[in-house]
Amino acid sequence: MRPSEAAEDAAAVIAADKTAVSRALNLVENRRESSQAQVASLLEALRPAPRAAAGHRVGLTGPPGVGKSSLAAALTREIRQRGRSVGVVAVDPSSIRSRGSLLGDRARMGFDPNDEGVFVRSLATGGEVGGLAYAANAAVRVLAAAYDVVIVETTGVGQSEVDVVHVVDTVVLVIQPGSGDVLQFLKAGIMEIPDILVVNKADQKELASRAVADLHGALRTAAAVGATAHSRPGWHTPIIATSAHDGTGIAELADALQDHRDHLKSTLNERRREAEAQWAVQLFTRRHGEHGVKSLGGRAELKRRVRESLSHEENPLSLSERLSQEYLNGLGNTQRGQS
Ligand code: GDP
Repeated sequence: MRPSEAAEDAAAVIAADKTAVSRALNLVENRRESSQAQVASLLEALRPAPRAAAGHRVGLTGPPGVGKSSLAAALTREIRQRGRSVGVVAVDPSSIRSRGSLLGDRARMGFDPNDEGVFVRSLATGGEVGGLAYAANAAVRVLAAAYDVVIVETTGVGQSEVDVVHVVDTVVLVIQPGSGDVLQFLKAGIMEIPDILVVNKADQKELASRAVADLHGALRTAAAVGATAHSRPGWHTPIIATSAHDGTGIAELADALQDHRDHLKSTLNERRREAEAQWAVQLFTRRHGEHGVKSLGGRAELKRRVRESLSHEENPLSLSERLSQEYLNGLGNTQRGQS
């Protein structure tokens, strides 16, 4: 992509032109090295988008079947009523392109296709380790330039939950009544404490109130061992019972999201920059492994350089490309020296 093309595409994305947003996400989904360079140019051109700085990036995560897609649709309707536009991306860590379509169809249910202020799309990540982090990071940046609120929906508890923490401003963990695993994970500190906890399917009344009580207990246990929500000081993770079917708790969830966004205000830029640093380090490490990290002076040195470059407004993808080039040139020199 020539710089002028990237700029044209970026302008159309910023104008929330659905065709352009879709095209940009196709590029993100494409696993070829050449498209990664194109994504880097596009992200660079999207950087000044005014919406991106002011917007809110929300992660909805949790085990399969708890109602994340249904909840995303209900939440989107609520946020639209409050006058803000919404981009939703469902990232399935295990999907490849052909299998991804199922989630795609499901993800689109419940959304109004004629609403220009809503964009919904699922992304296949090729089932690679690290695929989720790459796709979700890039997709969120594209959507954040076009829509006020970005919702990233991802399945799983464990690694993918950890990945999504570095992509969004607010992490919402969704469970359903009777899901004991999540409670155990929280209690044992296997999972970071999310910013907001949701017990969906609250229409199953008794079961749901027991789940809410259990979660309060799990949070107390976690607090006793010093674990705090990932947004840290001063935030108390609310526990909200929702029903995507009858609308219970949806407005309350939208309010809690807004409260968390307000809570983050002063630390948001720093937090997003730190997330970018994590992403750049991850991109480089995924490509070149420990040998690569070592040859650039070790992990601490790599992080230091990444943070410094990002503070000069370089974007994480171009930065990781530049570091890759440096590493590969270094390898070439070593090999020439040996022959
Ligand atoms: P996901 O896999 O977490 O995205 O879950 P889905 O949104 O696909 O929902 C899984 C199933 O739970 C579907 O059959 C939904 O109709 C159902 N479901 C979702 N939300 C609710 C809810 O609030 N109450 C009830 N009773 N069922 C729900």
